[in-house]
Amino acid sequence: MARRRFVALAVAALVGLGGAVWWSVTPARRSIPLVRGQAPPASLKAHCDEAVGAPRVERVTDRVFLAIGYDLASTVLVRTDVGNVIVDVGMSPARAAPVREALLHASPGPIAAIIYTHSHIDHVGGASVWADPGVPIWATASFTDHFLKQYGAFRRAESRRGAAQFGEHVSEDSLPCSAIGRRPDLAAATTTGARFPSHTFSGAQDLEIGGVRLHLREAHGETHDQLFVHLPDEGVLLAGDNFYRSFPNLYTLRGTSPRPIDAWIASLDAMRRLAPEHLVPSHTAPISGRDQVREALTRYRDGIQWVRDRVIQLANAGRSVDHIAADVGLPPALAGAPELAERYGQVDWSARAIYDERLGWFDERPERLYPHAPAERARRFVDAMGGGEAVRARAREAVAARDPRWAVELYSLLRDAAPEGMSPGTPLAGELAAALDALASEVGNTNGRAYLLETGQRLRHGEPPLSAPTLDPAFLDVLPVSHFFTIMATRLDPELAADVHESARFEFTDTGERLTVTIRHGIAEVVAGEPLPGTPEPLAIVTTTTATWRRLATDLRSPLAAAASGELAIAGDALAFRRFTGRFRRGL
Ligand SMILES: [Zn+2]
Repeated sequence: MARRRFVALAVAALVGLGGAVWWSVTPARRSIPLVRGQAPPASLKAHCDEAVGAPRVERVTDRVFLAIGYDLASTVLVRTDVGNVIVDVGMSPARAAPVREALLHASPGPIAAIIYTHSHIDHVGGASVWADPGVPIWATASFTDHFLKQYGAFRRAESRRGAAQFGEHVSEDSLPCSAIGRRPDLAAATTTGARFPSHTFSGAQDLEIGGVRLHLREAHGETHDQLFVHLPDEGVLLAGDNFYRSFPNLYTLRGTSPRPIDAWIASLDAMRRLAPEHLVPSHTAPISGRDQVREALTRYRDGIQWVRDRVIQLANAGRSVDHIAADVGLPPALAGAPELAERYGQVDWSARAIYDERLGWFDERPERLYPHAPAERARRFVDAMGGGEAVRARAREAVAARDPRWAVELYSLLRDAAPEGMSPGTPLAGELAAALDALASEVGNTNGRAYLLETGQRLRHGEPPLSAPTLDPAFLDVLPVSHFFTIMATRLDPELAADVHESARFEFTDTGERLTVTIRHGIAEVVAGEPLPGTPEPLAIVTTTTATWRRLATDLRSPLAAAASGELAIAGDALAFRRFTGRFRRGL
């Protein structure tokens, strides 16, 4: 009898363990309809045709082939005497499979090596299609750290913003491309085929494969783990994401830590020094001709430096960040350059990011220090403007007068003043959505356009479930077990944790690690080693291995099965431990 009671308590304790401590992955479902029939500006359509185009293999030289138009990022094949070297492998196995077929049709042979230009999922998610057994995979030494950041505490925000930036619920007739490539298939990309590199380097690495020399150079820019590949015998430079046919994404709407502006310029200068005949970026069409390549690279780095230097000048002059964003622009000598057209990155967003990186959010405007709370502030504005109905009437007039920019401002004020009046599906939400659609009709930047259209659709139909890459079990054991606890701490529900002061201990038999999680003052503290003074006695002690814990935390292993097989033991008050884990929010 006693044993049955123990089992029942253990089951109760374990039920809350899975997704609560890290995340469980919800399969992608398209639960809201697609935005359709929003005709893109003609110039955007032309850009999509010219810079991206239909899926095809282009022969750059006798040895270099480019598969472009199949996915957001391109894949390059370098033919050597012992097989093919593949640079970047696409976003998902589903998208990579036809690329492999097309490239190997152009250059049949075994895969000799894979090179990742960086760790963004659109360049590595299709690796399983290319990584035949024993094929070496090259990347910079920062690759793994950078890759795993994609599975950090801000993942939910990043996924929601990423889905908006790429217009997950926007049809192809309304958004024909993603400015730097084919629209990504975010649903397919939830199944990742990414593989970790087997060979890494810092600085530079020279390879000779089947009679072809490949010079790999670390080149920070769009990411801190970026490299480019120079093929001196071919006169070809594979630029990764430090160059493509759009103003660079110095800031990305999906959210990222600041991109290293000075390093990006230095990387472009290192590329200029090599004076290649062919510039083959990982996104958008290649450029051939030594003069054309030199001029394009020079204008690109000059555009970045222009924005950086104008931000510095205007900040030193005491201008607010809003004024700076509005005033930076590009000089006449660069404004018409095709590779600086604001199709993917945008000058004003970049200016804000550069300002924020160096000076932070405060821009010398004293009114920003002690404003009223947003709802109160918005209500007072609405009152000063004659009340909600008057503001709404002005917003409708703005739409009728083809001034959607102003309409969006006015509707947003109404949203902030009374958010409940703007909940998805309400007439007011529909009016803001229509104003966002109207604004999008003027926007030729695909990230901005997608964000407006996707947001409008969420206003009409509510938030769709998030689709985000699943964590491949192969990556799990690379994550330090403390990473799971760091994220667990951020999942504490302050309401369920109010007035709680309790702790639980976790002991890992394989590494000897001991972690104590203490709930106190509405936060969860994670302490490695000995608990700090004042920590209450643990209400339970969980004993397991790091491998088991990683799988429990990601719902790959059932706690009940782990307990039954002896991989997991819980000593102490099982019901109290159940309550303890129940204070953390489940979900992504
Ligand atoms: Zn990319």
